[in-house]
Amino acid sequence: MNWHQQSQEELEKILNVTASTGLTKSQAKKRMKQHGLNQLEEKKKIPSWLLFLRQFQDMMILLLIGATLVSAALGEYIDALTIVFIVLLNGILGFIQENKAEKSLDALKELASPTMKVKRDGHWITIPSVEAVPGDIVKLYGGDKVSADIRLLSVNSVSAEESALTGESYPVQKSNDRLKDTNVPIGERVNMAFAGTLVTKGDAVGVIVATGMKTEMGKIAHLLSDSVKSETPLQKRLAHLGTILITGALILTALVVIIGIMQGQPFYKMILSGVSLAVAAIPEGLPAIVTVVLALGVQRMIKRQAIVRHLPAVETLGCASVICSDKTGTLTQNKMKVTALWNPSGITFRSSKKGFSKSSYENLLSFSVLCNQAAMDTTEENENVQGDSTELALIEAAQSAGISLNRLFSSYRVEKVFPFDSERKRMTVIVRDKMGKAFVVTKGAPDVLLDLTTTIMERGRAEKLSAIKKENIYRAIEDMASRALRTIAVAYRPLDKGETIKDVTKAEKNLSFIGMEGMIDPPRPEVKEAIQECRSAGIKTIMITGDHKLTAAAIAKDIGLLPEYGKVVTGREWEQASLQDKRRLLQRVYVFARVSPEDKLNIVRELRNAGHVVAMTGDGVNDAPALKAADIGIAMGKTGTDVAKEAAALILRDDNFSTIRSAIKEGRNIYDNIRKFIRYMLASNVGEILVMLFAVMLGMPLPLVPIQILWINLITDGLPAMALGLDQPEEDGMKRPPRSASESIFANGMGWKIISRGFLIGLVTLIGFMTSLHEQPNDLIRAQTIAFSILVMAQLIHVFDCRTSQTIFDRPPFENKYLTGSVLSSILLLVLVIYTPIFQPIFHTVALSVSEWILVLTLAAIPTFALAGQYLFKTEKKE
Ligand code: ATP
Repeated sequence: MNWHQQSQEELEKILNVTASTGLTKSQAKKRMKQHGLNQLEEKKKIPSWLLFLRQFQDMMILLLIGATLVSAALGEYIDALTIVFIVLLNGILGFIQENKAEKSLDALKELASPTMKVKRDGHWITIPSVEAVPGDIVKLYGGDKVSADIRLLSVNSVSAEESALTGESYPVQKSNDRLKDTNVPIGERVNMAFAGTLVTKGDAVGVIVATGMKTEMGKIAHLLSDSVKSETPLQKRLAHLGTILITGALILTALVVIIGIMQGQPFYKMILSGVSLAVAAIPEGLPAIVTVVLALGVQRMIKRQAIVRHLPAVETLGCASVICSDKTGTLTQNKMKVTALWNPSGITFRSSKKGFSKSSYENLLSFSVLCNQAAMDTTEENENVQGDSTELALIEAAQSAGISLNRLFSSYRVEKVFPFDSERKRMTVIVRDKMGKAFVVTKGAPDVLLDLTTTIMERGRAEKLSAIKKENIYRAIEDMASRALRTIAVAYRPLDKGETIKDVTKAEKNLSFIGMEGMIDPPRPEVKEAIQECRSAGIKTIMITGDHKLTAAAIAKDIGLLPEYGKVVTGREWEQASLQDKRRLLQRVYVFARVSPEDKLNIVRELRNAGHVVAMTGDGVNDAPALKAADIGIAMGKTGTDVAKEAAALILRDDNFSTIRSAIKEGRNIYDNIRKFIRYMLASNVGEILVMLFAVMLGMPLPLVPIQILWINLITDGLPAMALGLDQPEEDGMKRPPRSASESIFANGMGWKIISRGFLIGLVTLIGFMTSLHEQPNDLIRAQTIAFSILVMAQLIHVFDCRTSQTIFDRPPFENKYLTGSVLSSILLLVLVIYTPIFQPIFHTVALSVSEWILVLTLAAIPTFALAGQYLFKTEKKE
């Protein structure tokens, strides 16, 4: 269907809808059944059975299964069956972990689901975009992401960025004119808005002509790419590390096998032990656990109102050294209230609940409502008042003085709107009164408006704006701003007869200043403490705002953001500074005021050049480049546009600064936890390999049989490691400086800890084995049981040490109930295989006596406590 060629009447007929009322609910329901949900189909998921089978495709596991078959052929049925059973259990565990990771990532996608404003039964309502159907009448605003193919019926200076579809990143101007030609390329169908593209400015009403896979986007069958699932730097580094670890483990294992055979151990036994050892030593579960921990962490972040759009952001959050935050709504509550009015006759402050008196401020109050998007939307749609909080405050102030919106809009008609944008910092309308007289009304930042003003209204007459009068206004602005009030000025100009305005710059000249309103926007109460916590975590908070320098400074001081020595810099000062000055300024600046989105981009770049990892917030279309340029772009969930959200890595559901702090805290914790279980798993593996290596080198019998090795791998690498990933944050998590993005996983002595603890675990196991063998040279099974128990217990004690970067004494050991639970169950399983007669022949174990247990536990505690003692000694000396 060539939608671009149809007229509105034809469109209404074909799509069976009336533009003025939209579809009825029942029509929409029927169409939903017919056309399905408005979404693109996703790539087919890997079926569960395949995911399960994939757990066994690992080379070493296949070798192990091969070796097991050989042992079955040699008649070792019990051994063979047990190994198969353990391998199966291992596979199930891996499968559960991967499945969980997959599911939690899927849940994330749903959160990012967009909404759409449609007309149903004559009313504008907001619905999830997936519920939109062909024939729906929709409204689009600058900043929206288009979720269906839409033929535009009316447009108001609309541009759209269609690069997702056409590759052309320059915005296309849209119109509602009918196009004549049939074969118009998509990029030139200017009366259409396509799914997947972004409205960069203006607003429009249109009718949906296609949804889901029938849209142009659906047709080129770009299956949804999962931005959420992109790999984090750590995952990439681990993949690289994985190959090194595997090679290392294989070399050592081969060494064990070769030396063992040379020492006269039976060939087949050594091969099976070697393969088992390799399976145990290769941390194949690592990537899956990392994903699960990342995904679970991301879910915890959601609970704290932070939605992660790109997984790598989780890690980058932990490296953030600067947060550039918007003021309005993020550091403040965005609950504006006008508390002061100024015009040449004087200033009036409002006491708590009372309204303003109309007498001397009627023009100021009325004009601030005429030039007001929220007021226009309200009367047009007869809905509850909603919109921008600055504008709502202006409406409330006018209403408090007894001015009625309905009466005002029945006396004046708004003919043209040049909407507010944070670059221009003002909004202008052309209105006409009942007598046919037209005039321009502009409201905006007072200092900006003054540049466009030549006269000032005094006692109903336009007087020349002399230098003294201008000075007076500046003083009034400063007076209001230093009380932390946000200021808005109103100016106007009657149009000459027959004067028509197309260009906004032609409208906004020779204006007459009417007055100013000052509004408070109280800081969010929790922000002060959050800024303080960020500071002790080595993270600097910088306020970036479009507001006046003094207003910004007053609020910044109030929330403890601006220290005594801190500087406040305006966008203009920043622009004019040399590169060198900018670098110097950056060290001391805490507030950027009156900035434009373009300045934001420049600030991010300079901060990054100075070596900072920058988190930057934003909400408007123009903020998107800065959000993309930042290390972590953060968009506002409530007030943010789709364009900003699209460009961001993190979305704050509640627009609240302290949510950024929580996300950083969580980001640091996730990274710490990943390091914890890497440390634990690797130290355990080093211990396992070394005990075998030492034994063969000393020409002793093998301290562990293959089944024991596999069993240890299963019970120690599985649940306890997972539980470490869920550990609580360490107390000093937000007291240390951010880590460097290039820092190695093994930084801060972790490599040494892994090797030293691993070495000790291997050593004490060997000592236990040798002691037992020395006492009862003919009881190899007993010595092996002791070695097996020491190895398990040493790991289960060491797991508590891995919770802290200091020593085991620094944290209450049993805080993490998952860890305590998994350790207890692992101990229970150990006791089970040692004491139950049916398991004894399977696991080659015997029951141990009390004195043997004392030996086991004493030796098992050494790797953790010996070095903790050394550490304690060191810190005491330091103190
Ligand atoms: P941020 O959200 O980045 O902290 P901000 O919300 O204060 O800053 P802007 O919204 O860009 O920044 O506003 C800048 C200035 O523009 C305000 O100080 C005010 O004077 C003026 N202004 C804000 N909203 C409007 C509006 N709806 N109409 C006219 N002028 C406005």
